[in-house]
Amino acid sequence: MLENWQTFEDELVKIRHQIHQNPELSNQEFETTKLIKNQLDKWHIKIVDTVLKTGVIAEIGDGSNGATIALRADIDALPIIEKTGLAYSSKNIGVMHACGHDFHLTSLLGAARLLKANEGQLNGLVRLIFQPAEENYRGALKVIKAGHLKDVKVIIGDHNHPQLLPGEIGLITGGIMAAVDQFMVKIIGVGTHAANPHLGKDVIVAMSQMINQLQAIVARNVSPADAVVISVTRIEAGNTWNVLPDTAVFEGTIRSFSNQNRQYVKDRFSTIVKQTAEIYDVSTSIRWIEGPGVTNNDIELTNVIVANSKKFAKVFKAAPSNGGEDFADYQAILPGVFAFIGSNGKPNASGWHHSDFTVRDEGLKTAVLYYVENSYRLLEYFDEK
Ligand SMILES: [Zn+2]
Ligand SMILES: [Zn+2]
Repeated sequence: MLENWQTFEDELVKIRHQIHQNPELSNQEFETTKLIKNQLDKWHIKIVDTVLKTGVIAEIGDGSNGATIALRADIDALPIIEKTGLAYSSKNIGVMHACGHDFHLTSLLGAARLLKANEGQLNGLVRLIFQPAEENYRGALKVIKAGHLKDVKVIIGDHNHPQLLPGEIGLITGGIMAAVDQFMVKIIGVGTHAANPHLGKDVIVAMSQMINQLQAIVARNVSPADAVVISVTRIEAGNTWNVLPDTAVFEGTIRSFSNQNRQYVKDRFSTIVKQTAEIYDVSTSIRWIEGPGVTNNDIELTNVIVANSKKFAKVFKAAPSNGGEDFADYQAILPGVFAFIGSNGKPNASGWHHSDFTVRDEGLKTAVLYYVENSYRLLEYFDEK
């Protein structure tokens, strides 16, 4: 450990505020990448060559000495106008760290510094992944494609959690964040005068029935013990009061926590849309955009991390979130553990992606220790195997 934790923490807070003030959208994190590299250089941490245009890969320790593990933090911001009123609010108007990825990347920098200070004690190699483009663009897939996970035994990551207090960690085996699917349904009928519906094929009545029927999937097809969400979030049809339009569109998202439910719900969805279309004699097309799968925590390694994290934090059983995470893409190819780190805990704390979302700097310490202490523990665990 460093001699003076308080000075170190103050330095980290400064770094976070600087990042918060200069947020960048997914795949455009050029200045953020520079800042991370400068900081790592300052601490003499090895930066690895990569084909990634944004994001940074670094390493501490020695792979010939033991296993290789990876620590991941995401670094991108969102297209949101910040309304926190903070002294260090975004200077890049219209872009905001509204998901707290500034918190993630700062804590990974902090962890890098501590691990470097005790590099001799590492029984293996720790690879640091400062991942670009988590929001919508599946940056994790790019990191995987670039080959940075090839020799990795386990990857650990986390997300700040506004409902947990600084010093608290939420963990659970299995699904901690949902699989994400996006759908867009187009309905094509025949337009006509509103007074003569029998001369057309009404897409609005068909759409209304479809949207209502879809809710029966969650209510009547999925086990009440499983969490599934179907949300229709946008509908569009017609231009005026006395014309029945010839097309209608609705879109939305499905969230689920198992591959089995994911596929089953999609199948039921397609059946209901097609059969309702038949009843109303209209035609339809469904466009699916597949998001990340379930953020699925490895049972054995999560239990190792839960036990170890109790040494420096209050650890709770996490309530799974219906949000999605591309950390799931790593977990699709290797074991991974994803935790929620307490970052607010005040009763009125805004959630992720809100224009007044904030994290409390007091939470950084636990986020740093989550990476550092669990790196030592996991390398020891693989050493013993
Ligand atoms: Zn987000
Ligand atoms: Zn996020």
